[in-house]
Amino acid sequence: KKESQPASSFDQLGLSSVMLRSLKQAGFESPSPIQAELIPPALDGMDVIGQARTGTGKTAAFSIPILEQLDSLDDCRDPQAIIVVPTRELADQVAREAERLSYGVPTEIAVLSGGKNMRGQLRQLENGAQIVVGTPGRLHDHLQRRSLRTKDVWCVVLDEADRMLDIGFRPQIERILRRCPRDRQTLLLSATLPTQVQRLAESYMHEPLVIDCCKEEMSVETIEQHYFTIPQDQKQDLLRALLKREQPKQAIIFCRTKRGTDRLWRALSKDYPDAAAMHGDMAQTARDRVLQKLRDGKLSILVATDVVGRGIDISTISHIVNYDVPEDSDDYVHRVGRTGRMGREGVAFTFIVPGQGDVLTSIEQRINKLLIRDSIKGFEKEP
Ligand code: ADP
Ligand code: MG
Repeated sequence: KKESQPASSFDQLGLSSVMLRSLKQAGFESPSPIQAELIPPALDGMDVIGQARTGTGKTAAFSIPILEQLDSLDDCRDPQAIIVVPTRELADQVAREAERLSYGVPTEIAVLSGGKNMRGQLRQLENGAQIVVGTPGRLHDHLQRRSLRTKDVWCVVLDEADRMLDIGFRPQIERILRRCPRDRQTLLLSATLPTQVQRLAESYMHEPLVIDCCKEEMSVETIEQHYFTIPQDQKQDLLRALLKREQPKQAIIFCRTKRGTDRLWRALSKDYPDAAAMHGDMAQTARDRVLQKLRDGKLSILVATDVVGRGIDISTISHIVNYDVPEDSDDYVHRVGRTGRMGREGVAFTFIVPGQGDVLTSIEQRINKLLIRDSIKGFEKEP
């Protein structure tokens, strides 16, 4: 790892004046640690594995070097960069962020995600796209149909890389990587990158530089994390009492299953007409509508599965409730990371059912911090 201090200003990163102007337009005053550390080697064409906390600007960290080195559409009609993300909503969000950072320079960005009209995507590819942002399944479809041409791809990004390389997505990811030129650049990012994932990732990369911003960032933790011990059949009453006490501006309540999500949302909707549900069985148009309402501040409560657990960036989300405990401690980190974006404050509550003490322990070991034991009058039970 380099000894020198990371740059404290975008001017020191070797960016073009057009990019500097566009960053100013976006309201970015100074680079976050991952941006300062990742942008220079990425501009040099290096492969990078980058780990940095949720909400610290990883999207811009990989988008800026891509935008800086893009050939114009006149010079190259086929995609030059492919950004792979785990969910459709995240694909839209990443494309929007890249679009915003390309301010002033016409840039064709195609979103290739599932649940969306195939014909529109085919037309867009036909007309020429410089950057493609997509989900693994749909990208793979386009490769099969030969509608996505990869011969000019010089950069592939796996955002939420540990998720991309887990067993569900890995076969599709491997096929996508195999179809791209061997001398491409590969960038991997996540807030959670277990060592075994990094080791696996290295087999797809050329001597990657590993950047880990998580250590120095520990001290600026802005999310207050609490837990309740509560019997399963009292969770809903506790949630109501908690919502009454906290009066959250916007909250995401995570449930384990799609059915559980629907059930809880229905139960809450009488008292909270501005609540909505979101999970993978809903039609894409409904999912898009719900997320848009959340972004517009028209929803105060979103009851959801882990489909919104990763990557989604909405600065007004003040509260996270793990109504059901997450699958593992990395999922906990991602769920809780939907609040406290870019140094803002947030608070997270996790409901622990008696007998789930080991879950609590593994979370605490993962974040290297004890969760604060919380209680509300009427729900004080011995652990
Ligand atoms: P991550 O992927 O690390 O979770 P995001 O890329 O979603 O984080 O960024 C979180 C938010 O911070 C976004 O709204 C983004 O526009 C904003 N952001 C990114 N970089 C900067 C910066 N240098 N200054 C101010 N805001 C930034
Ligand atoms: Mg992200």
